[in-house]
Amino acid sequence: MPQDSLLINNKAKEQHTYDAIVIGTGISGGWAMKELTEKGLKVLALERGGNIQHIKDYDTASMNPWDMPHRGSLTGKFTGENPILSRAGVVDEFTTKMFLNDKQHPYIQDKPFDWIRGYHVGGRSLMWGRWTQRWGEADFEANAKEGIGIDWPIRYKDIAPWYSYVERFAGISGNRDGLAQVPDGEFLPPFEMTKLELYLKQKIEANFPGRNLIISRTANLSISTDLHTSLGRSHCQARNLCSRGCPFGAYFSTQSATLPAAMKTKNLTLQTNAVVHSIIYDGQKQKATGVRVIDAASKKMTEYYARIIFVNAGSINSNLLLLNSTSQRFPNGLGNDSGVLGQYVMTHNYRVSATATYEGMEDSYYYGRRPTGVYLPRFRNFGNDKRNDFKRGYAMACSTFRQGWGAGNNSEGIGAAYKERLTEPGPWAFWGVAMGEMLPYKDNHVWLDKNERDSWGIPLLHTDIRWHENEDRMAGDAAEQMHEMLEKAEFKNIRTRDNHQAPGRDIHEMGGCRMGSDPKDSMLNRWNQLHAVNNVFVTDGACMTSSACQNPSLTYMALTARACDYAVSELKKTNL
Ligand SMILES: Cc1cc2nc3c(=O)[nH]c(=O)nc-3n(C[C@H](O)[C@H](O)[C@H](O)COP(=O)(O)OP(=O)(O)OC[C@H]3O[C@@H](n4cnc5c(N)ncnc54)[C@H](O)[C@@H]3O)c2cc1C
Repeated sequence: MPQDSLLINNKAKEQHTYDAIVIGTGISGGWAMKELTEKGLKVLALERGGNIQHIKDYDTASMNPWDMPHRGSLTGKFTGENPILSRAGVVDEFTTKMFLNDKQHPYIQDKPFDWIRGYHVGGRSLMWGRWTQRWGEADFEANAKEGIGIDWPIRYKDIAPWYSYVERFAGISGNRDGLAQVPDGEFLPPFEMTKLELYLKQKIEANFPGRNLIISRTANLSISTDLHTSLGRSHCQARNLCSRGCPFGAYFSTQSATLPAAMKTKNLTLQTNAVVHSIIYDGQKQKATGVRVIDAASKKMTEYYARIIFVNAGSINSNLLLLNSTSQRFPNGLGNDSGVLGQYVMTHNYRVSATATYEGMEDSYYYGRRPTGVYLPRFRNFGNDKRNDFKRGYAMACSTFRQGWGAGNNSEGIGAAYKERLTEPGPWAFWGVAMGEMLPYKDNHVWLDKNERDSWGIPLLHTDIRWHENEDRMAGDAAEQMHEMLEKAEFKNIRTRDNHQAPGRDIHEMGGCRMGSDPKDSMLNRWNQLHAVNNVFVTDGACMTSSACQNPSLTYMALTARACDYAVSELKKTNL
């Protein structure tokens, strides 16, 4: 090879070399970018989707239904073409741009699985529901105590300071409730419960010892501290239009919080439309040396190099990426000596919901649109409330509200009398959903097809995930208990329903690359580091060893910040 081309190649390699690469810019990738850059590392963040610029690109943020071609509703054409996304019930005409269409990135459902994604800078941090309860001690101990799956290699005390750390930065509002199931954190003032919720709380707590109703902890700034305002964030306006993107930066997202913090350091290079194909493993060095990236549009492949790699592509995509990172040393996926990569995938069971009405309290109303609801932490198989028919438990997310106006949004009418009727709020109503823990099962797995590939030449992913008997039994109990609690509180028209929806619609997929102490049955050690490739860290939901029933993203944030701290200290000791 001529000398000058060698020189050119060397320069290219140098230009493509960073201290760290972060794959994915969603909730967990955002934290990795922030922590690693703030600790002085030069970081390349790779995002397969395009950019959504904070504020500028939230084009529907202040639109009203009458500004939209279909008044905010999805059309029959859209729902027909996107059955998976439409079923999720979280997308409307204002937010379609945030979500991936069904056809854009297909996968093969061996059993029905609704995979709800957003491929753009910020990932699903832009559309998430922002409910942020900590895990408790019991959640980290349950696997070992019950002989289910494998033991977590960490306990609550290991993660507690990191929960505090991420809560302070993200801005979590909540009440200090003193409950072991969902330990208290570093909270901003809570949003208020409605009069009916306070009444329901009192009825539940009086009639069902061990059960509590609290305001949900949420990643919305009820007030903004200096830390938040320094990033351009201000307090929540109670519009509850969060998933369109918030022009006030009032809820935590990559765009509002971790990205500006990382940008401030001037250590971040953010590359969009960069589809990470696989991680490069060097058998001689016994380390990962970089990643192969396909340009989303040109399909051209480029390599980038770094000393450490953080995998934050969103649980299932992180599994896909590791499975696709094969080498002579790792023919079944990077770090997959144990063979468990892709197995023990979990979601949450959101099949059971309840509606009811309440007669009375019509002199009471609420102001603004609260961006959260009320939360009934898990009570089953906790304390003295033992069940023989299923393991673990479920929490409930609920809210109460005045139905529409007048006789309701859909009431019939015309003219002045109808308009007059609309000035009065309708009766009180209740809505709630049970959020059940799913156990880790070996047969709930994802794997790569040997023949079929996507437009970027990456093998298509098979999803083979189903509910087992434990989830079915738990769902039955949740429906009964919701009914009983509402009945005791003298609600009317109580309807509970198990819609038997497929796993995935909860949008809390986890596992497949679980943490554990033993490399024989786990992928990651207590620092989220691949047992077999110590400069690769997986800190999104793929790392989860069990699923608990709390909304999981706060735990991904804390694990990511903790792993970054460890990775940088190991780098300094030249151990990586
Ligand atoms: C409507 C909705 C409501 C939710 N409510 C809550 C809630 O209340 N509480 C809670 O805790 N969680 C909630 N979640 C879930 C939460 O959004 C996710 O747990 C969280 O976003 C996961 O963070 P992540 O970083 O792992 O993945 P994501 O946020 O999904 O980000 C992954 C990123 O990686 C990118 N990527 C994927 N593959 C590649 C590749 N090969 N190369 C380069 N980039 C790649 C994606 O484009 C994406 O930007 C909700 C989600 C939705 C959609």
